[in-house]
Amino acid sequence: MEIRMWMYDLAREQAPTLSHLRRIFQLTRGAGYTHIGLYLEHRFAYPSAPWAHGARCVTPEMVRTLRHEFPDLQIVPFLNLLGHFEGMFQTERGKRFAEERMKGLQACPSNPEFVDLATRLLDDALSVFDSEIIHIGGDETYQLGRCPRCAEVVASAPEGTDGKALLYGNHFRPLAERVLNAGRRPAVWADMFDDHPSALEIFPPSTLLFDWRYFSGPKETSARLRQKGFDVVCCPAIQTYNALWMHLPQSERNVNDHARDAAETGAQGVCVTTWECGLMGAYDTLFPALRACGRILREGPTEGAFLDGYGEESADYREWAELLGCRLQECGGTFAHGTRRSSLKCRLLLLRNPFLAWFFHADELCGEVGTKALDILERAANVAPNEATRNVALFGISTVEFVRFVESAAQSYAKGDANFAVSRLAMARQVFDDLGQIARETHERIGGSLADIERCRLSREHVDRVIRRIRQYGSGQLGYVPAFEVITHPEFVPHDQACWWRVNQWAEL
Ligand SMILES: [Zn+2]
Repeated sequence: MEIRMWMYDLAREQAPTLSHLRRIFQLTRGAGYTHIGLYLEHRFAYPSAPWAHGARCVTPEMVRTLRHEFPDLQIVPFLNLLGHFEGMFQTERGKRFAEERMKGLQACPSNPEFVDLATRLLDDALSVFDSEIIHIGGDETYQLGRCPRCAEVVASAPEGTDGKALLYGNHFRPLAERVLNAGRRPAVWADMFDDHPSALEIFPPSTLLFDWRYFSGPKETSARLRQKGFDVVCCPAIQTYNALWMHLPQSERNVNDHARDAAETGAQGVCVTTWECGLMGAYDTLFPALRACGRILREGPTEGAFLDGYGEESADYREWAELLGCRLQECGGTFAHGTRRSSLKCRLLLLRNPFLAWFFHADELCGEVGTKALDILERAANVAPNEATRNVALFGISTVEFVRFVESAAQSYAKGDANFAVSRLAMARQVFDDLGQIARETHERIGGSLADIERCRLSREHVDRVIRRIRQYGSGQLGYVPAFEVITHPEFVPHDQACWWRVNQWAEL
């Protein structure tokens, strides 16, 4: 297999130092990969767009140092030059590039200023990275044709042609040609060709297509793309974003399927993607899995490779990985394998209202699902061989405990015992102090998300706010007792007994 790559998702708030990156690159080289992908979005300091990145992102200097220190590894930049532009356009300078105001993830391909920016970002990447492959993005551009200018382009497409395919292809073709003219090879994600196959005809034939299929093998799709004359890289995923930690059997199967199908369809290689180690993920807990993937790509599909990878570290690490990766999902409920982002992680941390985790998951987490999960998580915390693994287990325990403290508070509140409810919420509040400490340790240890530290702080502040509200209004001081769901809600307003902020949701952003 010519290309054996894995892709590191910097965009989900990772903030590695050069020494973190060295650890990651040493792992990559040691595991036998030929390429490492850096998925950048707004986490790279593009020299021509100093407004577009935040603190502690990867810099051109870091990349040049790593190129020098790891000359045997191809460092492939993954830009995103249409879809997934949200990191850029949620800034004041970048908001002009959005396809729709405060909606979605896509920039506007009919905006000449955006096209100019995309070209400059690409030139930056071409000058900083020396890899043969330059990945220019292109996935999940679901807003094609939404703005008036783009809608006109789509509507004016000749009868019988796919206007969105034209819009998409005509945006990317000059960018791909620019990569070719620089003596390099353009690559794009292949998902948009599912719905808009005619867009492929617009791309230069030497464009490398990254066919990502995280819940099946890529055999049919990759074969179809190959038949159209394109080279393909098959892309499985280590499934972290849809798990408390990782869905281990499904990840291993996905990587094995891709390694097998890549060989059978004559693909150029495999790129193992990892996504979203924000929301309390820790990249160093994936290292043994990434080593196992390196072996699968070199030696072929191997059942049990992942747990063996953890076992090579120590018997405790293997047991920990089996508990978190295999046993936890068997508890069902929010821990079961699914294709969406973990509902529990979103509700606890992403949406700025941790009481959502209680609202949606109290029944399961206060019942059998929670009891089984706590047993597994506590065993995992006991065998955890290091800080990283212990913290993942503690995150899980804290999550279940938070929901249980809140449920206990809700029951006391219902009985009219506001004081006891407050004492339970004081314990729920402590959970976010502990999680904040874990987030800080993950950031220091392996460049984890800075936003997670803030999420924990803001969640704790919200619990504090709710404690104050219950003291002030929880015993009928308003003349009525607001429902627990209302008094814990970020939008709660005293005396707005009817919650008109709910009735008039149409007025919200
Ligand atoms: Zn547009």
